[in-house]
Amino acid sequence: MRIALFGDIHANFEALDAVLADSEEQGVTDYVCMGDIVGYNADPGACLEKVRGMNCPTIKGNHDADASGTHSLDTMNPVAASALEWTREQLDEDQRKWLSRLRLVRQVSDFTVVHSTLDQPAHWNYVTNRFDAMSNFSYQFTQLCFHGHTHVPRVYVKDSRVEEVPAESVAIEAGSKYFINVGSVGQPRDGDWRSCYAIYDLDHKLVVFRRVEYDIARAQEKILDAGLPKMLAERLADGR
Ligand code: ZN
Repeated sequence: MRIALFGDIHANFEALDAVLADSEEQGVTDYVCMGDIVGYNADPGACLEKVRGMNCPTIKGNHDADASGTHSLDTMNPVAASALEWTREQLDEDQRKWLSRLRLVRQVSDFTVVHSTLDQPAHWNYVTNRFDAMSNFSYQFTQLCFHGHTHVPRVYVKDSRVEEVPAESVAIEAGSKYFINVGSVGQPRDGDWRSCYAIYDLDHKLVVFRRVEYDIARAQEKILDAGLPKMLAERLADGR
């Protein structure tokens, strides 16, 4: 069993398409979507339908919650808020309902998935250091937990203490717990513009990160054509 964990797609269909093609080449047998299917970029409906059609375990991200709600977006940063207002208009009622019904946390096989962190998952806190990771570990009852939200791939390991290790290949050792950020498909923010996702090989107890090139020019063109903020197109190239 080889499971692709992919999320923070953010309505970037070109990136999603490239990741799914790569995962097929990599012999992936199953898929788990880590949330934030919509928001920021120009293809919310197409990305939602693609993920919905895959019928794979899918959890809710903050942008999925915001796009499917009717609450005010005033407290959000203006660029994200204007993209979310636009996204709300693109989705039909059935699509918004599907997003609103996604779970915040779920267990899949022998691991847990959450968009942000297991402590107060509906508060959408960011995990950026080992102290944030410690808060998560107090609520993590499986050996592995995968998440997203910061758009930066990261790996925290807990044995006698909690440490961050490089987000490269991670061999899953008995006796340790792992909290793994799988990075972002549609808007990476670690300085590398290529889509990021992870493959968990259950038989070999190994997690590997994949970076995949996609048609970024096309994705940027669609953002500008849709009248979305220009910086959303620019940031894709910067990987920020
Ligand atoms: Zn996101």
